[in-house]
Parts: sequence; structure tokens; C-alpha cells
Amino acid sequence: ADEREELSWEAFGAASRELAQQVAADGYEPDIILSIARGGLFVAGALGYALDVKNLHVANVEFYTGVDERLPVPIMLPPVPSVVDLSGARVLIADDVADTGATLKLVRDFCAGHVADVRCAVVYEKPHSSVRCEYVWRRTDRWINFPWSTLPPVVRRRGQVLDA
Ligand code: 5GP
Repeated sequence: ADEREELSWEAFGAASRELAQQVAADGYEPDIILSIARGGLFVAGALGYALDVKNLHVANVEFYTGVDERLPVPIMLPPVPSVVDLSGARVLIADDVADTGATLKLVRDFCAGHVADVRCAVVYEKPHSSVRCEYVWRRTDRWINFPWSTLPPVVRRRGQVLDA
């Protein structure tokens, strides 16, 4: 799979709406949306509005260091979500993509035993993912370019006016 899958901001808008419709049609009413930073924050924000859920939490997971380059295992960085906050809740985990599935598995296992129910919503799921997400917009085995991470970080240029 040499070619990349491109997701535009516009397509993301439609994708997140369709994902929310899947959740609603399934009758799942989450109390909490748990996003996986950073990519999952966009998905969680869109799902939060579309599903009328205001209770959004964040899990910070570090795994990828480049295109298809990973640390040995995903690790949760502080601040770790509070299990007290999650206790007894119906949780919807939101992320951009389930690739190996290791990131989602880490967060799902973290929730298990504390929550009433936990399900996963992703924009993309790759066929080899170890986690089967309940709600998926598209499946692909390509590397995906997301609109929020396609451009490199901004830099301060020489002579740039900062407070015009
Ligand atoms: P996993 O743990 O399922 O292998 O990977 C999950 C995370 O890795 C995603 O949330 C994302 O940040 C990153 N990732 C995995 N595959 C891709 C991809 O195809 N494109 C981009 N941009 N990020 C990816």
C-alpha cells in the first residue's frame, strides 16, 4: 500500500456525523466520551456535539514516532484519566484510527472493570487491528493523512510580526 488515504477537513465533517449516526442508531447513549490525544480529540469533539454529550475526557497515549514507526508498546502519559470519574459510566472511546489496535486496547483495558460499558468509535479501522471497533466510518490498509497532522508544525519566521 504505497498510496495514501487523504482525509480532508470537509470529509472529516461528514465522517464524524456518520459515526455519530451509527452510535445513535445502535441505541448506545454514552455518559462519557474518552478521547485519545491527540488525533482522537477532533473525533471526540465532533461526536460530543453530535451526540449531545458534554462530558469529555482525555487519555494521552504515545506510540507512533513516524510513518509506521512505533515504540515497543503504547504508553499512557500523565495526566491519566481518573477511574473515579469513569466509574459505572457508559464510555465511548474516540480515536482517529485503529491501526495495530494496541492504543485502543490499552485504553479499553484501562476502563474495563470500572465502567458499565465501553465501546470504541474510530474514523478508520485497518484490517489487521487487534481491536474490533463497534463504530467505524471506513476501512483501509493504507497510511492515512489526517487534516490536522498533514502540515508540519508552524515555525516562527525571521521578521514575522507577532502582535499586529
Ligand atoms: P495503533 O495503536 O492502533 O497501532 O495506532 C493508533 C494511533 O497511531 C492513532 O491514533 C494514530 O495517532 C497513529 N496512527 C496509526 N496509523 C496511522 C495512520 O495511518 N495515519 C496517521 N496519521 N496516524 C496513524
